[in-house]
Amino acid sequence: MKSLKLTLVTGRTVEQGVEGEHGKLRDEYAEKVAVIELDSEDLGRLGVSAGSPVLVKTAHGEVVLKAIAAKGRHPGIAFAPYSPWVNVVIDSETDGSGMPTYKGIEAEICPTEERVVSLEELIRKHYGLEVDLSKLAGQEVSGGEGGEEQLIKDVVCPFCGCLCDDVEVLVKGGVIVEVRKACAIGSAKFLDHRKERALHPLVRKDGEFVKVSLEEAIEEAAKILANSKYPLLYGWSSTSIEANELGIELAELLGGVIDNTTSVCHGPTVLGVQGVGTVRATLGQIRNRADLIIYWGSNPLNAHLRHLMRYSALARGVFIKGRKDRKVVVVDVRETPAAKMADLFIRVKPGQDYELISALRMAVRELDIEAKEVAGVPVEKIYELAEIMRTAKFGAVFFGVGVTMSPGKDETIENIIRLVQDLNEWTKFVLCPMRGHFNVTGACNVSLWMTGYAFGVDYMRKFPRHDPAIWTVTELLSNGDVDAALIVASDPLAHLPKEAAENLAKIPVVVVDPKFNVTATIAQVFIPSSFVGIEKEGSAYRMDGVSLRMKKVVDPPEGVLSDEEILSLLLEKVRELRGA
Ligand code: SF4
Repeated sequence: MKSLKLTLVTGRTVEQGVEGEHGKLRDEYAEKVAVIELDSEDLGRLGVSAGSPVLVKTAHGEVVLKAIAAKGRHPGIAFAPYSPWVNVVIDSETDGSGMPTYKGIEAEICPTEERVVSLEELIRKHYGLEVDLSKLAGQEVSGGEGGEEQLIKDVVCPFCGCLCDDVEVLVKGGVIVEVRKACAIGSAKFLDHRKERALHPLVRKDGEFVKVSLEEAIEEAAKILANSKYPLLYGWSSTSIEANELGIELAELLGGVIDNTTSVCHGPTVLGVQGVGTVRATLGQIRNRADLIIYWGSNPLNAHLRHLMRYSALARGVFIKGRKDRKVVVVDVRETPAAKMADLFIRVKPGQDYELISALRMAVRELDIEAKEVAGVPVEKIYELAEIMRTAKFGAVFFGVGVTMSPGKDETIENIIRLVQDLNEWTKFVLCPMRGHFNVTGACNVSLWMTGYAFGVDYMRKFPRHDPAIWTVTELLSNGDVDAALIVASDPLAHLPKEAAENLAKIPVVVVDPKFNVTATIAQVFIPSSFVGIEKEGSAYRMDGVSLRMKKVVDPPEGVLSDEEILSLLLEKVRELRGA
């Protein structure tokens, strides 16, 4: 049988984002995420047509995914959306950074007669658990017929780190009926917030989920946490900073660990900034002044759809009027949709960002590079990019997880920060991390101001300690160090490597989320919550560190409380149980 050795890269896609908002337990979600994009050349070499199943094997496991044709050219690279399927072949090794390697993994791919398994089958096969998804079927919250129409302007979109604050939401009869100005994913978040909703707290009894009152669910959740010797409190990036404050209070009370999703995306960025500082600007400054935009290891057209329009390449600023006044450069391992609209696309070999950044630093300083190419990039192109950078009036580098996950991790980030610092000897240059979840920056900020550390904070000794090699979600779960978990506004079972997810499935888990997600399938207690930024107001920080107040535009379903209210009740109950 033919097989190919390819480099596996995982990441976000628009379909993954939109279907995730519709509900992750639906077959349609599996349809969109249990796939692998292969270049037409590689499909031909394998002798499979788009739509056929292929077996993906790495040193860490194997899984069957549906092959689809890549939209851009990237022979030798296989791309798969983040999902519970592809995660079973991801390495949980973090190299001491806390962040697993989701990109640049050696994989063997071959045709197969097997089919792509359903989510239930996947959980049974890889985590040894029987789940009945029919017990977790969400409901559509009724309303919308009749009633007055109200157009609410300047609403902040609670999906990605762009936190677009110009969204208009038309509400009729207490229901969102139209969303203007948001992108496809943002619109899906608003319009689908009432679909597939979890409306009742659930507690697992004799292995089966049973509907219970909120009081009973809080009591059960508090018992799990209070009886735990060392609990993990994880998530926090898709909720308000007010909820984050309560989470840290709870972690301190429990003597556990609190970690936010930074540890699996931009943890190395935090570490890199701690090491060498940074050069920042607000998105407004970049929009108004930047005549050079560089996207490095990030694909805004899949993950931050309005970023180009609102803040960078295509934005109309005060001094820079639009695309014609700007140069756009994309550095990536594959030809992404953003690469197609760039003036210059630099294809870097997977995992060699550090080398390319080092060569660029040499070129910026007019030093000789004694090689014909570095990281797969001819030196002429490196000098060309260095010249473009030095001659810009105001340059901005937006970097994503393609850089943070590149080998070297925080060292690679330190190197890219130093490149930007070097460039400031010539001109004005800034950099900005492309943060994913809408309040992941806020989760870091709250953690910083309350504990001194941005993520992965341990309270075992009653004072905060931080070491990403020990107190981060992937390390703690992979090593089996925690004996219970509270998951707030996050879905680690859908996003963590298999080894970590396996151990999460072995401990009692409390999930607080507006919808049933993949982690809810293995939970002991599930408590439904309202959507921050839609059904509850709250504060969040944009990717550039600007804080914004999110509006409430409709009421939550009856009896469904906010994360803040649920955490306050949990704190009270844990205090009571612990006699604190
Ligand atoms: S770019 Fe992000 S914040 Fe803006 S509308 Fe789309 S999902 Fe929402």
